[in-house]
Amino acid sequence: MKQTITILGSTGSIGVSTLDVIARHPERYQVQALTAHTRVVELAQQCRQFQPRYAVVGSAHAAAQLKLLLVDMDVRVLFGETALCDVAREADVVMAAIVGAAGLAPTLAAAQAGKKVLLANKEALVMSGQLFMDAVAQNGATLLPIDSEHNAIFQCLPHDFKPGSGQRQGISKILLTASGGPFLRRELSTMHTITPQQAIAHPNWVMGKKISVDSATMMNKGLEVIEAHWLFATAADDIEVVIHPQSVIHSMVSYIDGSVLAQLGNPDMRTPIAYGLAWPERIASGVAQLDITKIAQLQFEAPDFKRFPCLALAFEALRAGGTAPAIMNAANEVAVQAFLEERIGFVQIAELITSVMNQVANRKVEDLQGIMQQDALARAAAQQYISQQV
Ligand code: NAD
Ligand code: MG
Repeated sequence: MKQTITILGSTGSIGVSTLDVIARHPERYQVQALTAHTRVVELAQQCRQFQPRYAVVGSAHAAAQLKLLLVDMDVRVLFGETALCDVAREADVVMAAIVGAAGLAPTLAAAQAGKKVLLANKEALVMSGQLFMDAVAQNGATLLPIDSEHNAIFQCLPHDFKPGSGQRQGISKILLTASGGPFLRRELSTMHTITPQQAIAHPNWVMGKKISVDSATMMNKGLEVIEAHWLFATAADDIEVVIHPQSVIHSMVSYIDGSVLAQLGNPDMRTPIAYGLAWPERIASGVAQLDITKIAQLQFEAPDFKRFPCLALAFEALRAGGTAPAIMNAANEVAVQAFLEERIGFVQIAELITSVMNQVANRKVEDLQGIMQQDALARAAAQQYISQQV
């Protein structure tokens, strides 16, 4: 029997890589639903190739455009958040690859429906933490990390480890590797002149714009620290960020007996995607085998929190708990967008987030509504900060 799969965010970098792996294994997977926000033409092309039952877009206008493009096809075109949640409940497997807070509701819906959830959308977990992990445990969902670092850690853990189970299995530390992004060696006094073009040019990975800027500020690693905390039930003190500019080791697990296990590979997201799709089996992903003799050296160093204040902010938010990570995440999303639109400078991203975290009260997490409330307050405070800059 083929597994049915919904891909939330199919037109994005992760979505396209997921379809690339799926196309290599037509005997295993049947696409149930594809979703995109505004890129209707790309979505229509994907629908022609993969013949899903549903296609979901962000607005009525986009839906009307998509219907015209698919007039000769048997695809039901829907739009909006309710439709995203509906299609997330319909398939055996859900790839959560929408960027940012917009992905939270459908990803949570998939967990609540007990699905196999392939989690790329780290912001959803950062925002909802305990709530999301509880939904996974209470509804018997299977959560498989797709973020390359977390997928690597998952591969280095004992086979019966289940994210959310709280098992510790003799783990002493999680070593989260980070490339350091494009500004690892940049003269500190010139950080304020960084342009969006320079920030999105990642040395090792090709990714969406938001995560590329996050990698340049290292907020991406900060979000990943929080993500690792929830997935692997690990305290902030037991998660160590290690700069490894080559991006060959995707992360490591250090055990109490002194062993350190690592997962290596070429930096291509199709490897963790294929692992998530086929787990616990392995399937071909299209990624070239790592040529270990060609790698002249592997370097490691400690991160510089002065150069990357966003990384320190994330540790602070994790330690504070409650809605602090959601507030930080919302402020970061607004800041990154404003930076990409050249309304604030690169160093102001961290300044804005600091200001919003100081301003918006940290609350106890009760439910999704409470999280979204603090998210909205943080976005408003962030917009206010931006409007005061001119
Ligand atoms: P992207 O910008 O390339 O794609 C984002 C997708 O989300 C698109 O399909 C877009 O249509 C959809 N989308 C955007 N805004 C939306 C909204 N408001 N409502 C509904 N859909 C919306 O992003 P990406 O690089 O593919 O990243 C996706 C997620 O995966 C992010 O959370 C990112 O942190 C995570 N991730 C990405 C990579 C990578 O290599 N690209 C690696 C690890 C984790
Ligand atoms: Mg990552």
